[in-house]
Amino acid sequence: MLQTKRLFDDAPYDCTFNANVIEVGEDYIVLDKTLFYPLSGNQNYDTGEINGIAVTSVSVEEEQNESNKLSFTSPIKHYVDTSGFEVGQQVIASINEENRLRTMRLHSASHVVEYFIRQMSSFLSVEGSFVNIEKDRTDYKMSESITAELLASLEEQVNNFISQENEIIFMTEDGLRYWQCRDIKMLCCGTHVSNTKEIGKVKLSRKNKGKGINRIEITLMD
Ligand SMILES: [Zn+2]
Repeated sequence: MLQTKRLFDDAPYDCTFNANVIEVGEDYIVLDKTLFYPLSGNQNYDTGEINGIAVTSVSVEEEQNESNKLSFTSPIKHYVDTSGFEVGQQVIASINEENRLRTMRLHSASHVVEYFIRQMSSFLSVEGSFVNIEKDRTDYKMSESITAELLASLEEQVNNFISQENEIIFMTEDGLRYWQCRDIKMLCCGTHVSNTKEIGKVKLSRKNKGKGINRIEITLMD
């Protein structure tokens, strides 16, 4: 069975790598290892090049199981013009560094925002989230809407926490992956910065999606 080693888990700041082609499909190739984060769960895919050929999207088949355990060896498909590739070929590849960094900053900020929203008495559940290079959006189910005043104080709390230069670590325990920062620990498989100071100042905005869903969007101020 084909497997792709996820290089981005241990080296989220790396941007270039060498790999071997292990499958050539009609419009995609699979590598034995990759720095390209695939579209999965709540994070968008990386863009970049393999042997100078543009990668237009990246995907992985996510295993469905109840315990939130992901397979960390599933083959990752890189969508490219496949005409110049063959199985066994060695390639050199690079991801878009600026986009990776923006995504890591926004995604790390999303954990901090979630931490503070979970402490609100009106918090019920997280209903989904997605991060790309522009913004992170997360839907929170609340018993009462987050008012403009609450949002402003939330933004202040979040920016305070970020400015405290808190270290972020990414750890695996019993086959599950966690984002950890001070005493906050959350299940996650995404890519993150290693210290909150890298996030910089963020801006929060809110959209009421109805049925108690408050969508909070995070954008970077610099
Ligand atoms: Zn995360």
